[in-house]
Amino acid sequence: MLFSDVVAQTTLSNRFRECIKSGNVAHAQLLDGAEGSGALALARAYAQYLHCTDRTEEDSCGKCTSCVAHSKLQHPDLHWAFPFFKKDSSGRSISAPFQTAWREVMLDSAYIGQEEWLAKIGADKKQLFISVDEALEINRKLRLKAFHSGYKVLIFWLPETMRVDTANKLLKLIEEPTDNTVILFVSQNSDKLLATILSRLQRFKVPRLSDEDAASGLAKIAGLTLEQAMGLVHVTEGNITAAKRLAKASSETPDLELFSAWMRACWARNAESMMMQANDFAAQGREAQKSFITYALHMVRQCIVGNYGATSLVRLTSGEAVFLSKFQKFIHHQNVVKITSLLEAAHKDITGNVNSKIVFMDLSVQIHMLLRKEAA
Ligand SMILES: [Zn+2]
Repeated sequence: MLFSDVVAQTTLSNRFRECIKSGNVAHAQLLDGAEGSGALALARAYAQYLHCTDRTEEDSCGKCTSCVAHSKLQHPDLHWAFPFFKKDSSGRSISAPFQTAWREVMLDSAYIGQEEWLAKIGADKKQLFISVDEALEINRKLRLKAFHSGYKVLIFWLPETMRVDTANKLLKLIEEPTDNTVILFVSQNSDKLLATILSRLQRFKVPRLSDEDAASGLAKIAGLTLEQAMGLVHVTEGNITAAKRLAKASSETPDLELFSAWMRACWARNAESMMMQANDFAAQGREAQKSFITYALHMVRQCIVGNYGATSLVRLTSGEAVFLSKFQKFIHHQNVVKITSLLEAAHKDITGNVNSKIVFMDLSVQIHMLLRKEAA
């Protein structure tokens, strides 16, 4: 992956290139950024630039043997660590059986989240972790001699899924690394990292993308028009990964129509219509259901932004703006907190495999009562 393939994040890209050009490469670094910020893409561009034998001031060459190996994710001195699950109770629990799946996911896009990874390997969130066996395996791999003369790089995705005993096994490696070893931790939740690990890392905060940057990046990655991409990143607040997910789900569901019909039924407490919508809702896949709830949350937030006249913060397509101009008066300070937390709880329930028809029906009835609450 080239730096030019990373969406925006030019300040960090510059900084990383400077570190590498000046030979000032810390052996353990943390790229700390929320999902969809591109931290993983940056780590990949960093590793490739470090290995490229013909790099320019700006980027890797894209043509040398190292770059070609990177583009196929087959560079022998690039190692990966990521959370996985134990397939059966026999033998050691290491990532080897998952490396092919990981490579396939990475060849598809560097903008992935836990959801994509879970779906790829057929796991659920509770199962994912990085085992002690894997920590020992990482120690072993990084103590081997490099294949080429340069650096051995480990990109370590979601180190926050390490348990304490795993982390402890890596402390020595982080403290006293072998020669020319670079570990790039890519975290979405660095608060969960052990303080003993955190204190040994050179930390870089990867900021959220602006909507404009995220939209032009997403348009390119997902083959959308800029307007489509803008509509999606508004909903996900600049998170490219979630926007890609939404694009996939919303190619099946016209969210605005569904949302406006739903809100009308809730307002009227039209039981028949609510029931039909609950059936339709339950008939979709879990991902589409979650996307719809995310969309509903976005619309509710936009009502509040609109109510307070903060038009510069409003993120809407023209169709949404027309709908909300009539609807936003029903969302106000008396009900917004409750409605938001109901939607968030529904999202959680759907993730947790609760019966989605019941979740939706229950949500509809509660939202009816809250919509009928007068603004004081
Ligand atoms: Zn190269």
